[in-house]
Amino acid sequence: MNVLLLSDIHSNLAALEVVVEDANANFEIGETWALGDLVGYGPQPAECLSLLKSIDVVAVAGNHDLAVIGAISTADFNDIAAAAVEWTQGVLDDVNLDHLRGLATTRERHGITLVHGSPRAPAWEYVVDEGVAAQALNDVETVGLGVGHTHYPVIYEQRGREIGQVQPVPSQSRSVAGTKFLVNPGSVGQPRDRDPRASYAVLDLDEEIITHMRAEYDVELTAGKIRAAGLPTFLADRLLVGM
Ligand code: ZN
Repeated sequence: MNVLLLSDIHSNLAALEVVVEDANANFEIGETWALGDLVGYGPQPAECLSLLKSIDVVAVAGNHDLAVIGAISTADFNDIAAAAVEWTQGVLDDVNLDHLRGLATTRERHGITLVHGSPRAPAWEYVVDEGVAAQALNDVETVGLGVGHTHYPVIYEQRGREIGQVQPVPSQSRSVAGTKFLVNPGSVGQPRDRDPRASYAVLDLDEEIITHMRAEYDVELTAGKIRAAGLPTFLADRLLVGM
């Protein structure tokens, strides 16, 4: 079965719609998993949550989702992120807030652990190098671990005590068979690797193959909605350059 891996959607509906369409055009998708930060930063949180519900997404909460429901304080956020959290709180109704409240910070699905940051600090820790990745893999029993949070697509493969980082090439498949692996699909709604295209990955659970993908979407449409909503304009500008 192929799993569509999404992370850091950040209320960017235009990007999310294109990603779901692109994934289904290129793969037979059986399930969709979202690795947190469904909302925050972007202009269409309610629309994104309803699209995700319509495709029966299996999701974990990210730090932005937790801040929106008041489970963590925005005191640890920068001013722009905090402003976006407050804006999001103002536009989500109780049904949507309850949906976010119902998200766990860690889940296991078909032998893969799902968290936003890392197993030991799901809301906060960034897996940015082999050391942190090795620790993260050490902290789970499953053969695979899906994370988001950094907004950078990457794979880490562990064989015995050896761990290696793989920089995925979009549209190229990578076999992780025989390894304990960590995958970050990159960010759907706010990529930060200087490629403004939406990032996602598809995990073939049976063959243990990961394919990272990039999909072009109407960045100007989302940027315009961010400005019209009165969200900090930096959040619009950064989408145009992918950082
Ligand atoms: Zn994020």
